[in-house]
Amino acid sequence: MQVHDTIDSFRKALDAERAGGRTVGLVPTMGYLHEGHLSLLRRAVADCDVAAATIFVNPLQFGAGEDLATYPSDLEGDSRLAAGAGVAHLFTPATSEMYPGEVLTTVTVAGASEGLEGGARPTHFAGVATVVAKLFNIAGPCRAYFGEKDWQQLQVVRRLVTDLSFPVEVVACPTVREPDGLALSSRNVYLSTGQRRAAPVLYRALLAGRAAAGAGAEATAVEAAMTEVVSAEPLADLDYAAVRDDRLLIAVRFGPTRLIDNLAMEE
Ligand code: AMP
Repeated sequence: MQVHDTIDSFRKALDAERAGGRTVGLVPTMGYLHEGHLSLLRRAVADCDVAAATIFVNPLQFGAGEDLATYPSDLEGDSRLAAGAGVAHLFTPATSEMYPGEVLTTVTVAGASEGLEGGARPTHFAGVATVVAKLFNIAGPCRAYFGEKDWQQLQVVRRLVTDLSFPVEVVACPTVREPDGLALSSRNVYLSTGQRRAAPVLYRALLAGRAAAGAGAEATAVEAAMTEVVSAEPLADLDYAAVRDDRLLIAVRFGPTRLIDNLAMEE
């Protein structure tokens, strides 16, 4: 595996791969890799001639007072995992490499970015769309892999690709969960033992929402069913439990840690 920390080196390496007739799959991440990330990496390795991954904690997608400064990182461990998964090129730029000066050009995806995560984090999806557009321009992937775990992000990226005509196929990968239903997330390390024990409440709420929907409940009653499950967990503060486009979406706070999850309304 080649590790690149400059845009120039990563771009040239992938240009050479494509010039050799090889398809390139890209997996953008913020690192601290877990089995969820690895499922995307393995899929890219299986689907494409060459898999490339990026590790970049993108300051543009963090709001003031969020966890940018404390976001977990383990570049050495990540490199081992990425190489073990079969990644050929790993891009690990410094912030100054991605954003050498003030960022005056950003990409905003209206509609898909609004409400839910966009409501709680008003600048988040512009930050995501901007860095994804940059990474696509740098890497020129044939396919790019995103997790369903971040459902609204997936919709934002799909719309970005359509509206700006990126020649990239977006591949959605299913959410990887712990045995108790908690979706894997780099942020799970923030949880105390008690909070970790309480955290599967997100998945339980989603399952309750699905059951209510299956029994014919309207959206507001489905949302109420999800809310009720979270209310019964003293360590959990509900941010939102919502139905959007046949999807159940939930965000819950455990102290300062905010977790999100989602599930198709129908199995
Ligand atoms: P992140 O490092 O959190 O920005 O995530 C990088 C990519 O991995 C995104 O496309 C996420 O949706 C995806 N991802 C994160 N957690 C999971 C998970 N538990 N299952 C599947 N994909 C995931």
